[in-house]
Amino acid sequence: MYRIRLHGRGGQGIKTAGRLLGTAFFREGFEVQDAPRYGAERRGAPIFAYVRASRSAINQRGIIRRPDLVIVVDDTLVTMPVAGVLAGVTPDTVLLIHSSKTGERWRQRLNFPGLVLGLPDGADPEHPLEPRFVGAACIGAAARLLGVIARPTLIQALQHELAPMGDTVMAHNLKAAINAYDLFADHTGCVQEGKDSPAIHYDKPAWIELPPEPVAVAAPAIQVTATSEALPTGLWRTVRPVIDYKRCHSCPWICGTLCPDSTINVNSEGFPEIDYQHCKGCLICLASCPHHAIQAIPEQEFNETVKGGGQRS
Ligand code: SF4
Ligand code: SF4
Repeated sequence: MYRIRLHGRGGQGIKTAGRLLGTAFFREGFEVQDAPRYGAERRGAPIFAYVRASRSAINQRGIIRRPDLVIVVDDTLVTMPVAGVLAGVTPDTVLLIHSSKTGERWRQRLNFPGLVLGLPDGADPEHPLEPRFVGAACIGAAARLLGVIARPTLIQALQHELAPMGDTVMAHNLKAAINAYDLFADHTGCVQEGKDSPAIHYDKPAWIELPPEPVAVAAPAIQVTATSEALPTGLWRTVRPVIDYKRCHSCPWICGTLCPDSTINVNSEGFPEIDYQHCKGCLICLASCPHHAIQAIPEQEFNETVKGGGQRS
């Protein structure tokens, strides 16, 4: 059985990418499971999807704990423990990372014992892949690495699944997928099928007793007070709200009240200050500010050019 896990962020088409891969397997005659797993409710939060494919019936359920192939659509997740990218990997696992860094650089950085491959951010550095096409590129590469999905099958799967999105989106996705498929010709079939039994002879028990545990034991991190403080949800943010204090009229009962995460505090001068450790970047504050005093700046751009900005000095 092939066991594949895809990691990315909400809004990057992880669910669709898993679906595309599942459909391609199915068209090659495999039994398939594909399912997304959402950890949080918003765009930018880490999510993953998993795909199982077997020539015989699949009776296993649940997330994949020992992946044969891990596909990482967003390389900022690799070193984020909460994203679980490296959970359960073994020296037999192949890691495919969409990144501007090479696979070898990632392998050294992670001290990873298996094969790490980097999917470049578009063939032309001047025209990197748009986020919505990255999933298709990853699936094209994965199809080649698995070695059991032929190019025409890959094309048919994309055409079938993406038809509702229209011809232009379809054409871009097909191009991204086929380019990636061709790029990894030297690695055809490098992903080995896992040794998991498909469990067709599993003898299901009639009843499983699961004694309840005290909540303080079963979910201590949830039960203790102030858990939201302990979870730095600012890591989920892809876009940063930045207050322009020249426009701000000091009415934080508006933005501060509407922030769903209570991350806007009021300073001693009565102006709002954003707690970036916990701001998730939903931009409700931006939408609600009557004086248009909040701008949205992509995190990458902020890190490169505005470092240190965003708060009143
Ligand atoms: S709502 Fe806008 S103007 Fe009012 S305090 Fe918040 S950022 Fe400033
Ligand atoms: S973007 Fe604004 S509303 Fe959303 S969490 Fe951050 S501060 Fe709160």
